[in-house]
This record gives sequence, C-alpha cells and structure tokens, in this order.
Amino acid sequence: MFETVIGLEVHVQLNTKTKLFCSCPTSFNHKQNTNTCPTCLALPGALPVLNQEVLQKAVMLGTAIGATVNKTSYFDRKSYFYPDSPSAYQITQFYKPVIQNGELEIDFEDGRKKTIRVGFAHIEADAGKNIHDGDISKVDLNRAGTPLLEIVTQPDMRSAEEAILYLKKLHSIIRYLDIGDANMQEGSFRVDVNVSIRPKGDEKLYTRVEVKNINSFKFIQKAIEVEVQRQSEAWEDGVYEEEIAQETRLFDQIKSETRSMRGKEEAADYRYFPEPDLLKAVISDEMMQTYSQIPELPDAKRERFIKEYGMNEYNAGVITANIEMAHFFETMLMEEGVSAKTATTLLTVELPARLKGDVNISNSPVDAKKLGFLAKRIDDKTISGKAAKDVLDYMMEHDDAKVDETIDKLGLKQVTDTGAIESMCQEIIDANPEKVEQYQGGKEKLFGFFVGQVMKASKGSANPQVVNEILKQKLS
Ligand code: ADP
Ligand code: MG
Ligand code: ZN
Repeated sequence: MFETVIGLEVHVQLNTKTKLFCSCPTSFNHKQNTNTCPTCLALPGALPVLNQEVLQKAVMLGTAIGATVNKTSYFDRKSYFYPDSPSAYQITQFYKPVIQNGELEIDFEDGRKKTIRVGFAHIEADAGKNIHDGDISKVDLNRAGTPLLEIVTQPDMRSAEEAILYLKKLHSIIRYLDIGDANMQEGSFRVDVNVSIRPKGDEKLYTRVEVKNINSFKFIQKAIEVEVQRQSEAWEDGVYEEEIAQETRLFDQIKSETRSMRGKEEAADYRYFPEPDLLKAVISDEMMQTYSQIPELPDAKRERFIKEYGMNEYNAGVITANIEMAHFFETMLMEEGVSAKTATTLLTVELPARLKGDVNISNSPVDAKKLGFLAKRIDDKTISGKAAKDVLDYMMEHDDAKVDETIDKLGLKQVTDTGAIESMCQEIIDANPEKVEQYQGGKEKLFGFFVGQVMKASKGSANPQVVNEILKQKLS
C-alpha cells in the first residue's frame, strides 16, 4: 500500500592530476597537510583558478548520460562552517551547473528497462578530513579542494533494487570513462540516499530523509530497506507527522538502523551567492568536440557482444558491467583462433572460481593473455575442456608457469592421433564381449560405457569426439 520514492546524490571524486582550484596534487597517502597551498588552505588573498581538466571530464560524463552540457556555467559559495573546510564556505555550482537533464537506463534481471532522470551534475570542491583519535580530533587538509562531480537524480526510483541498479550503472560508466576511481571504500564514490514513502497512487512527494555515509552497495540496499520500514511503521502507527522529519540520518551498519544526525538545512541556510573570485567556467567548442568523443559504454558493448559473438544477455551483461572484465575478455580474443564461447566460459566460470582473498582479475597470476592462450589450446583441440581446468589450477599456483609447458608437464595433451585411439577402442571391445553383444542386440545405452572405458584407459587424454566416431564405426 506504500510506494517508496528514492532520489540519489552521488559525489564522484575526479581523477585529475591536480586539485580543482590550485596546483596541489590530488594523490593519496601523503603525510597529513603536505598537499596544500595558500589556496586550498583558504589563506586570505589566495585566489582560485579553475582546473580545465575538470571541465573535460564533465563533458565526458554529460555526453555519456545524454545531458545538456552548459557551455557556460559558474560557481557559487555555499556557506557553512566545519573544521575540515577552512574557508567556511564550499565552492560549488548552484544556480547554473555544468550538466543538466541527463538520463541513465537501468536493466532489470527479467529484461525490463527503466529510465532514471539525472536532474543535474555540478562541480564542487571536496573538504578535508577530520580524524578522530581518542578524545582529540585532527584535521587533514590534503583532500581539501579535490574536484568532485555531484550527480543528482530526480526522485525516480521506487525500490532499493532500482537504486542499486542505478548506482551500479553509474559506477560502471565512471570507470569506463576513466574520469574517477569510483572506489567506494576509499570514498571516491559517495552516495547520499533520499528516501520517502507515500500511499500508492498518490503523486505528491512526502517528507524525505537523507541517509549519508554508506560505503557499499550492500549497505545502501539495507539502509533503504530499514528506512522504508521505519517510515511505514510510523505511518501505520499514526505518528508519521511527529516522527518523520526532513533530516539527515546516518546508517549504523552494526545495528542496521538509521539514526538522526542533524536537521536538514534548507537552501536558504547556505546563503548561496555567485563566487566573486572566479570567472565563469567556459567550455570552448574545441573542448566540447574533443571530449564528447567518448569510449564505448557498457550498454553499447553489451549489445555488440550479443550481436558479434552470439553471447547470451546474461553473460554479455556480466562481462560488460565491469571495464576490467570487458578488457580482459577483449584481450583474450586477440589470441588468434579463440572462440568467444570458450573465452566466455573460462572468464565467467573457471577463473572466478579460482580467485580468492585479494586476488582478483586485475592481479590474477593468470592474466588475460595466458587465459586467452589456454582458450586457444582448447579450441585447437590440444587439450580437452576438462584438462584445461587442471592447467588453470596449476597456473594459479605457479605465477610464471606457461600454458604449453604446463600442458606438457601435467601430460594433458589430448590424443587426436586416430591410430592410437583406434587400438585403445579395440582393446576395450575385445575385453568386453558380452557388453558388445548386448549393445548390438539393441541396448544402445551401453555406448556411454564404451566411451567411458576408452577415456579412462587414455587417462582422459583421448579426444572424445574421435573416440565417439571410432567406437560407432567399430560397434556397428
Ligand atoms: P538538496 O539540495 O537540499 O539535497 P534537492 O531538492 O536537490 O535537495 O534533492 C536532493 C535529492 O533528493 C534529489 O536526488 C531528489 O531527487 C531527492 N528528493 C527530493 N524530494 C524527495 C522525496 N520526497 N523523496 C525522495 N527523494 C527526494
Ligand atoms: Mg543534498
Ligand atoms: Zn592547494
């Protein structure tokens, strides 16, 4: 009887070399407060200068989501005091953001699709970090002034599932465009979830709650679920008006509940006004031209894989959802003679089954070239698919093992030599005269028995296709 309404705000840290308004590096893991200068420390008199690389990345994202990229946008001051923001205001875009009116399509498992509208995306400067250490708090300003793109949807999502699909798609696009690392744990893809409920059929938007600081897809899903639960219960108990206020809440991962953090500010509290120290952000025609040439995106790649390789929707979706996976696959196919089918099975089934701990496809001892070569050895019938699993097992444990060497070492070369297979077949036939009689008398199921015996005798190295053919011939 209730409908969930969700709008998402995502802060993406852009992977520019230098900060938004100064030339300090954006790189991580430096000693505290060393990547700073008068501008990002907000010392009086220091002036910001816009980093053009940020506009380039904005053009790329805007193009990817089919948005209007404003040739001219400008910056505003958003006033608030917080220890990690020495200027006591944030430079952001409020009145005229760089990106407006984009869309992103999400795909449900059953094949349904839905469009989520992205209202706008704006450029802003990140704050520093407060580090709480016992009963003292320290401030590290290395991150202060790092460029963010805040991407804000319309309240178009109707379930936690839709929110997660949207976030995964956006995440994937950021990685494809390579405009940010989008690492949730490290805070370079930060999600604020706005949640409200309403009686089904009601078009009005009810009071929303903003839940912050959730750093995994799993917890975002959970946070939405518990927040919807809380609001629905308040409604049913007749205390919705009293209990549900427009506010910012924190998700507690351990207790699995949301908790009030602070009342939600209204825009007026921020006293936005145009930033007087910066010129307008202008995107030249040339820049627009150059940076709107973006790489193939996940949806397009998925459709191409289906068409070009006859891949099914599911596998194409899995492989293209993640840029590393897609590149891995494309590298495997560069090996001559590799079929998409063999490569797909090795990449989506066999390799993942062998990745554990912090070994993933980016640092797997069996890289795309090796796995591609292994696929080639299956396709050219040097080894069987079954033997390939043993080769893979071995290579996962031995970093510098090569495919052909491993095949030799493990003695897994498939016997396709018909002479050798023929004599093995004959031996099995000679050893089982009654079974032959039964088979010839009509008990056709016994064929499998003969194949099994030959395969066993060859220790699995006989090419099963050849075994089948020869046995058929001999037994008929
Ligand atoms: P603010 O800038 O104060 O955070 P916005 O109006 O820009 O507020 O909205 C922020 C986000 O909240 C947007 O993603 C928007 O879609 C979403 N939102 C607005 N109203 C609701 C609502 N009633 N329920 C759920 N989400 C909402
Ligand atoms: Mg907000
Ligand atoms: Zn600086």
